[in-house]
Amino acid sequence: MRQLPTLVRIAIAAACAATIAAPGASAQDTDRPATSFPYTPGLDVTSMDKNADPCVDFYQYACGGWIKNNPIPADQARWSVYDKLAQDNRRYLWGILEDLSKRQEGRNANEQKIGDYFGACMDEAAIERRGAEPLKAYFDEIDAVHGAHDLPRALAKLQLALADERLFFGFGSNQDYADSTRVIGFAVASGLGLPDRDAYLKTDARSKEIRAKYVVHVANTFQLLGETPAQAQQHASQVLAIETQLAKASLPTVEKRNPYKLFHKVDFKGLQALTPGFDWRVYLDALGAGGQDTFNVTEPAFFKALGKLWKTADPAMLRTYMRWHVARTMSPMLAKRFDAEHFDFYSKTLRGVEQQPPRWKRCVALVDRQLGEALGQEFVRRAFSPELKEKSLHMTRQIEDAMKRDIDELQWMSPQTKQKAQEKLAAVVNKIGYPDKWRDYAAYDVRPGDFTGNVERGNAFENRRQLAKIGKPLDRSEWQMTPPTVNAYFDPQMNDINFPAGVLQPPLFDPKMDDAPNYGNTGGTIGHELTHAFDDEGRQFDANGNLKDWWTKKDAKEFQQRAQCIVDQYAQYKVVDDIKINSKLTLGEDVADLGGLILGWMAWQTQMAGMPQQAAGPAALRDGLSPEQRFFVGYAQWACESDRPANARVHAMTDPHSPGRYRVNGLMVNMPQFQQAFQCKAGQPMVKEPQQRCRVW
Ligand SMILES: [Zn+2]
Repeated sequence: MRQLPTLVRIAIAAACAATIAAPGASAQDTDRPATSFPYTPGLDVTSMDKNADPCVDFYQYACGGWIKNNPIPADQARWSVYDKLAQDNRRYLWGILEDLSKRQEGRNANEQKIGDYFGACMDEAAIERRGAEPLKAYFDEIDAVHGAHDLPRALAKLQLALADERLFFGFGSNQDYADSTRVIGFAVASGLGLPDRDAYLKTDARSKEIRAKYVVHVANTFQLLGETPAQAQQHASQVLAIETQLAKASLPTVEKRNPYKLFHKVDFKGLQALTPGFDWRVYLDALGAGGQDTFNVTEPAFFKALGKLWKTADPAMLRTYMRWHVARTMSPMLAKRFDAEHFDFYSKTLRGVEQQPPRWKRCVALVDRQLGEALGQEFVRRAFSPELKEKSLHMTRQIEDAMKRDIDELQWMSPQTKQKAQEKLAAVVNKIGYPDKWRDYAAYDVRPGDFTGNVERGNAFENRRQLAKIGKPLDRSEWQMTPPTVNAYFDPQMNDINFPAGVLQPPLFDPKMDDAPNYGNTGGTIGHELTHAFDDEGRQFDANGNLKDWWTKKDAKEFQQRAQCIVDQYAQYKVVDDIKINSKLTLGEDVADLGGLILGWMAWQTQMAGMPQQAAGPAALRDGLSPEQRFFVGYAQWACESDRPANARVHAMTDPHSPGRYRVNGLMVNMPQFQQAFQCKAGQPMVKEPQQRCRVW
């Protein structure tokens, strides 16, 4: 993926409140719905800094103007070309939703749902009046927990309604790694309120400070729930103690990139043996997912630790921990005092955001999350024409042809492995724009004026939908991203590449532009997703999406050597302060970035061969740039961004993507075509010695 983690997906509705607040824009000029999409060209000269030397810092040259002209809005943790486009999409959807929320008649079933959902979400007065009351039923449930034997039923109920996989653990459905045609239950390690296990274990000053502030935040939340300061303080310390125990039992994020480390198939007895005293039969029955006998436990050591905790901890401590996580999940949906306290820690302290995004942004984002394919139909109808779909598909096929040639021409791979790689490539399914079959929301009851009820029923709807897949034939037509999403992904088990309509718009994909920037930008994105099929993680899955080694030992070693070149290169880049890129974590994305740009270049060469008038000569200059230069600037301009230092620190721990600067400059140094396009000299910063260049695919 270009922006989201690419790790083998666990199909659990992830309701991380911190991400609800994240997308959006500045409050000043954007506080009206848009009636049309603003146009930004696919190559924008005003986004460049022509005073910068492209051979010294190409990112500054291509993005310097953008960074200067687009300061991070006060309500954002970071700001990028992708974020800005996502905000434009939302601002447009806002108008549609506002209209549907006011109309009572002439709405079809989906329009009623998205309209009423949005209307209830926007009704802050009603939300304020309810105060903390939506928590009551959950807290009653928790109060009835007197030991491990009471946990299964309570946890199942809470997880269904809250979609909160951070309540001790997550349970959902996913394709079996060994047999991608089967969907089985997955029990997933989780349970933490901070963004990563390292946040509990690191001993540097900043990490200690964040932990101290986290405890204050938990205590503040308990006080809002009516506890005395002393009680709240004690309870917050207990939460940190439990979570630290769970963090110690969790795999480091880097290790989760290895699918074998997350693949531990057990039968029912095996599952039960991990946590004696916690009755999985009761839990699964309460989820409505009983009767299964095959599970994947992603991290058995974590579940063993969890079983021990449940057995030995004072039940009052377990209740405290559960109350905290319920309050954490629900706070953004509650009265202002809860919402503000939640924002203060998760957005302000943790990520440096200055102010809460306006209500409409958060409500559009929530509709997109809970009713994304109903909202997506409105978006596609207005923003994604059949011609655009055809054009995108054409480019995708060209990129795939380029990959086919690329594999054929590889010097380091044996014919035997090449054949398997070609089989895998030929089996990749292209999904462009939106699903062929829209999701049916009939079973999701959305009521006017009942915001938290709508959220809970939406969570339960999605969880049941996921759990109902277990044991059924796999639906290959399903999407994991909604159509307005400005992002893309590769799914190793489906073996498909997915490009939502939202990412196939200007300035990323611009039919009005010449080919060069489009092949650099969107061509690079398509190539990026396709290369994920062959990155350090994706390459471990075969043409059928099964976790199965199809490499000869020698070829695997050759791959690893080339990947190591990337690891070593990116390990030298700084994220923020003295924190360097954790290049083992970003390896898959870095490999996909480089492969994507090379494939985009190859596909563009093919395209140009068919259109000689675009190819060369002084007439080919536009904005003073040659087609080759426009290809590279077009590529770079998807990645222009600014990040707040606090947010960058979180990303350094959790984000498998390198910062935008290195997603640009880190590639240019490896591309001889770049050196030639800008006539850079040997020894300049954007030029590596030929024998030092990295290339995997
Ligand atoms: Zn990616």
